[in-house]
Amino acid sequence: MEFRDLKKQYQALKTDIDQAMVDVATSGAYIMGSPVKELEKELAEYVGVKHCLSCANGTDALTLALKALGIGKGDAVFVPDFTFFSSAEVVSLEGATPVFVDVDPRTFNMDPRSLDDAIRSVLDHMDLRPKAVIAVDLFGLPANFTDIRAIAKREGMYVIEDGAQGFGGSIRMPKASGDGFEARRACSFGDISTTSFFPAKPLGCYGDGGAVFTDNDEWAALIESYRVHGKGSFKYDNVRIGLNSRLDTLQAAILRIKFRAFKEHELADVNKMAEYYTQLFDGMTKFLKKEIQITTPYIPDGYTSSWAQYTIQLSVPSGNGTFNREALQAKLKAKGIPSMVYYPTPMSQQTAFKEVHSYALTPNAQNLAKCVLSLPMHPYITREEVRQVVETLISSL
Ligand SMILES: *Cc1c(COP(=O)(O)O)cnc(C)c1O
Repeated sequence: MEFRDLKKQYQALKTDIDQAMVDVATSGAYIMGSPVKELEKELAEYVGVKHCLSCANGTDALTLALKALGIGKGDAVFVPDFTFFSSAEVVSLEGATPVFVDVDPRTFNMDPRSLDDAIRSVLDHMDLRPKAVIAVDLFGLPANFTDIRAIAKREGMYVIEDGAQGFGGSIRMPKASGDGFEARRACSFGDISTTSFFPAKPLGCYGDGGAVFTDNDEWAALIESYRVHGKGSFKYDNVRIGLNSRLDTLQAAILRIKFRAFKEHELADVNKMAEYYTQLFDGMTKFLKKEIQITTPYIPDGYTSSWAQYTIQLSVPSGNGTFNREALQAKLKAKGIPSMVYYPTPMSQQTAFKEVHSYALTPNAQNLAKCVLSLPMHPYITREEVRQVVETLISSL
């Protein structure tokens, strides 16, 4: 069994993907060919924002967002302690200071109360300006943007949504007109939002890729410039120091085919499989020894996930010793079932951040790093495979 079966997806879409790749090779427009603009238009429309600018990867997408917002030395940028390294790495790369915030143990996402504590703690130190929040849609579930946006507004901070794993998720929110509710899509919740097209993300290409989303014309123009060496009125007029960060035409052409399948059935299929996992776990935990608890993913009311990961928590009620996660993974592997630990180390414990001051305690992030386990999940997994994962896991415990 594959953890994320990209080969099976390719077999399903092969005819169209092969044709798209041949078309690009034939066209000769390998950089910024027409599929790039077409993809950007389709993505912006789906997400519900004015501008989508593609780039070389999800990490660059975050860097471009920080550059457009003018974030740098002396600025505090609040980042969840439980995420992929990129979310915080880009902050340090721009010379700003990442401030790690604890997460909600049920959603895995930034806890607004911890954000409040961290802001107050930074303000008491007076040597950094609270400038922005990078809220991450971890494992496909959008962060609590209602509360995070309210806090950011109160403090005069920007919100950046790191939607690398969140593309396709949504939150039911009041309409701007005040008349009823609407489901708003991930990558529309930040002042600037980003995503990644790394192959294993909910919408992935066949290499590296990423995109930035915003409604703001001025930031969009800056990002357009920053992604091509800080270009001015034309390519060889360079008005600022930028990056070389474009999405290849080939990747854009592949993504257009994959995006169609994503909208037509993949997102719905992966949601059905997540529901099936949870239903099976709920029905089987009664066979578990009392020493171990399995917690299945929690999706708050009004939220939908794009299921970048299906992540359970394995915990031992206090006083019963520790649980050996590696031994369980080895047992699963021996029976042909891959599993992954996303993520084993909170940001605040990473060697690269050992000089970064901690402004807030992050007990939930520390605990999750010890008890999470991600299971095989993708739109082409079968009910039989899901059942096999759950049964093998329960019997291995
Ligand atoms: C994958 C990921 C990124 C970075 O994306 P790349 O395309 O690999 O650079 C950033 N943030 C999160 C949360 C991610 O999962």
